[in-house]
Amino acid sequence: MEDTLVHAISTNGHIRYMALTSTQVVETARKIHDLLPTSTAALGRTLSVTLMLGAQLKDKDGQVVVEINGHGPCGTIIAIAKNDGTVKGMIANPNCDDVYPENGKLAVGKVVGTDGYLSVSRESYGHTPFVGKVKLQSGEIGDDFAYYFALSEQVPSVVSVGVLVRGDNSVQSAGALLIQLMPGHDETDIETVEKSIATLPPVSNLIDSGTDAQGLIEMVDAKASILSSMPISYRCDCSKQRFHDALASLPKDELKELIEKDGTIEMQCHFCNRKMVFTKDDLADLLYAN
Ligand SMILES: [Zn+2]
Repeated sequence: MEDTLVHAISTNGHIRYMALTSTQVVETARKIHDLLPTSTAALGRTLSVTLMLGAQLKDKDGQVVVEINGHGPCGTIIAIAKNDGTVKGMIANPNCDDVYPENGKLAVGKVVGTDGYLSVSRESYGHTPFVGKVKLQSGEIGDDFAYYFALSEQVPSVVSVGVLVRGDNSVQSAGALLIQLMPGHDETDIETVEKSIATLPPVSNLIDSGTDAQGLIEMVDAKASILSSMPISYRCDCSKQRFHDALASLPKDELKELIEKDGTIEMQCHFCNRKMVFTKDDLADLLYAN
């Protein structure tokens, strides 16, 4: 089943739904970063919700940058998405593997921690980024995004996000459902949402049993109108040129020092692990081009 993001709206236009399946996105992230289960869940949940934020962007050259740091053992998590359904991300410590003793579930809140912030930066070309920042609530990611939507964007929201990991550490299922109350909503809409989510099983279980993104929405609102559907994927847009530009922005003394000390330098992308090598000649060209 291809990873898909579906956008829908209730018949009265008061409730917006976004749902996605992200099993392959999260499995790709796991393989790139060689993640252990709780790091997989923490990064996977972040990638999934960031994809929905990215899909809400109007500017095709824009991006959403999410950063979470609760000072827990997994360290900083970063995810970056665009409105074409692509996302990339990283987690400082890929080796977190911890479960809650009471239920055996992956202890995402424990490895993320709550002593810190969730920040969302919407960046569009030629404009100052719009940044919202909230204190982490539980570190479980879903709750923290719900709090962000309510506080920073004044949109009451329900965020259900989950990642199931197999015994061999590979990703069994992943996905998310976002329900947002639009301006003009009333008490009845609030009751409708509360009733629809009260008995909803975890999204990762639903996806595991074969429910697709549209199916997730239909479980909470069978009459919702589907507005769009698009494939989503993990993709890094790094290039040698970008690294070249980063090197070119270094002060000349530092460049000179690099040439004298190492001759060649190797740089690695934090999002896809691709390695870029710059030879002594490349560095010298940079030095004299400025
Ligand atoms: Zn890359």
